Amino acid sequence: MTARITALDTFDIRFPTSRELDGSDAMNPDPDYSAAYVVVRTDAADGLEGHGFTFTIGRGNEVQVAAINALREHVLGREVAALCADPGTLNRDLIGDSQLRWLGPEKGVMHMAIGAVVNAVWDLAAKRAGKPLWAFLADAEPDWLVSQVDFRYLTDALTPAEAEELLRAGRRGRTEREALLRERGYPAYTTSPGWLGYSDEKLSRLARQALADGFTQIKLKVGADLEDDIRRCRVARQVIGPDIRMAVDANQRWSVAEAIEWTKALAEFDPYWIEEPTSPDDVLGHAAVRRAVAPVKVATGEHVQNRIVFKQLLQAGAIDVLQLDSARVGGVNENLAILLLAAKFGVPVCPHAGGVGLCELVQHLSMFDYLALSATTENRVIEYVDHLHEHFVTPVALARGHYLAPTAPGFSAQMHPRSLDTYRYPDGVFWAADALTEGR
Ligand SMILES: [Mg+2]
Repeated sequence: MTARITALDTFDIRFPTSRELDGSDAMNPDPDYSAAYVVVRTDAADGLEGHGFTFTIGRGNEVQVAAINALREHVLGREVAALCADPGTLNRDLIGDSQLRWLGPEKGVMHMAIGAVVNAVWDLAAKRAGKPLWAFLADAEPDWLVSQVDFRYLTDALTPAEAEELLRAGRRGRTEREALLRERGYPAYTTSPGWLGYSDEKLSRLARQALADGFTQIKLKVGADLEDDIRRCRVARQVIGPDIRMAVDANQRWSVAEAIEWTKALAEFDPYWIEEPTSPDDVLGHAAVRRAVAPVKVATGEHVQNRIVFKQLLQAGAIDVLQLDSARVGGVNENLAILLLAAKFGVPVCPHAGGVGLCELVQHLSMFDYLALSATTENRVIEYVDHLHEHFVTPVALARGHYLAPTAPGFSAQMHPRSLDTYRYPDGVFWAADALTEGR
């Protein structure tokens, strides 16, 4: 019997993080970290499932779930073996749905839904191969990886032949790097001390903890009030000393002129990068900020909609650091394109993570990048936030400021069934009890 996809189940999962001000920043004061979660099931004898999700911060998660549901008919009935041998075909079919495409194209809720489904399929493919996704990708042949990328709109910056050459060059020395990766892990930095809603006392305590945990970079949220930012940067710098990198993140709060002025006002604290200084769509604005605030680096990417905007940011010399996100764009296929673009332009990738499960996912992409493409971890760090990992079956593991390489097959995307039952909105155990308490 040919095994086929039999179900695509969705879940609206929300965690009440806003009550502790975890995740608070200048643009997002009260996020309830949420996942529009998808499970792809098959009738194969191995019983394996593909798990994926996209990340939202609460209200609207039901819209994200509805967008995933709109893709169901593209997935049901597909042959499992053919799908896992070539996820790129599904990726192209989803992007190419001529009616759904109107809702983008390749941006926003519909595109994030595609990312959730495509990532679930990659989870399934890696599980069937018995490998963690990073190894599944790093073991793949360059020509096959190139076949997984949609080069439409990219060839003025990167051709398939150039991509294949980058991958062929990138895999040299892979064996030694893999030994190092398995031993030491991949460098991380932490945002846990720097949420805007935290007191100075909590900021100092968590910054001190970050040093004790072996991190060599922390990040602070900025952009709500300049006097507060100056005080908080001073507090953090006093705790960490001059040698630890301190990035700052404005979460799109500023106009171009404000971004330049504000970043210069914080320059005495030696910020390593200014993240999301302005609108993620403003390619030329980022370029102007970068020219004005150097040597402070400009970083962005967690809200960059797709590979085409990344291409422009690179072409325009607008960023020093590319912050791809595992669940914002159209899944692993598009992130392969983005990693290849970054390699072509020689810009380091320091992925966005945190939220719900973003650390779990994105570690695989950086580890693949290290083994098979960029071949270095110099000036490269994955964001780390210590929230909500306990809900995952194979949570990230950190040691001495590094992500340890996952060993379980798949994309580390799977949540515990109990977490799904408890935090399903609005009828999970937690939210139902909460509604009773609130008298709603
Ligand atoms: Mg950020």
